[in-house]
Amino acid sequence: MSRTRVTDAGGVAGARLIKSCPVGCAGDLVETAIVLPEGALCRCLVCGQLVSQITVEAFDSSMKEFDTPRGTLPTLRTQRRHDARAAKLFGMVKTLIRSESGTGVRLLDIGCSSGALLRSAMTHGFDAEGVEPAAQAAESAKSIGLKVFHGYLEEARFPASSFDVVTLMEVIEHLPDPSPLLREVWRILKPNGVLVVGTGNGASWTVRLVGARWGYFQVAGHGGHISFFNPTSLGILAQRCGFRVECGETRRVSLAEPHEAGRVTYRILKVAAEVLAMPARLFGKGHDMLTFLRKLPA
Ligand SMILES: [Zn+2]
Repeated sequence: MSRTRVTDAGGVAGARLIKSCPVGCAGDLVETAIVLPEGALCRCLVCGQLVSQITVEAFDSSMKEFDTPRGTLPTLRTQRRHDARAAKLFGMVKTLIRSESGTGVRLLDIGCSSGALLRSAMTHGFDAEGVEPAAQAAESAKSIGLKVFHGYLEEARFPASSFDVVTLMEVIEHLPDPSPLLREVWRILKPNGVLVVGTGNGASWTVRLVGARWGYFQVAGHGGHISFFNPTSLGILAQRCGFRVECGETRRVSLAEPHEAGRVTYRILKVAAEVLAMPARLFGKGHDMLTFLRKLPA
């Protein structure tokens, strides 16, 4: 890792979007050996958060590609995985809020896209609604009868203590400054409410093994991924915004994307990744991170 201190002018022309650690650390950001088209990823020396050197302009244009009517609906191939993951997520939520059926439990999914997780939440008995800033995705969620506010969370102006559960899946890695959103979540959660955060793990074995080739780092493929948490940095952010980490897990290792290798090589790397997945989970080194936070009193 280079110890070059990153200053305002990044490796590319234009104003850098992220100039300090999004978690709020006072420490320096230094360049890592993970080099992306936007420049090397930078690491916070305090919490290990990885951040992009993307410019404001490039970030804005990458976010525009995000809005499609289909949104993040699972495909036929991924539906079973989606259902299994949702069952596990909502099972844990029910344990944490001590509700067996989910009946009468108000859940808000922030960044609900076209409503895949909302539909699962309703299947699991929750009284679920969503917030989605992307117009087409929000519209397609509404068109199938889901209750969705089109806009940003702060614009929805929910009354304080409105929800028992808030889910924030694949959202936080898009935010140059996640604290205002988390503080708003804190405000709208009931006392002892639960916040579920799903994001990539920047301290995973996948990052260690494939570095810049990890698909999750690619702004072009994942509009606006700019800030990569790890269990430590997410824990620090949670605490700063009034939450306690109840539990969490990481899972999965990836050694190659399908387009990067021939069919046979890809199969071999996929099997190797599956072998690594179990110890990765055990040591908190998987690249998918799911964390359950509890709202603390003010
Ligand atoms: Zn930090």
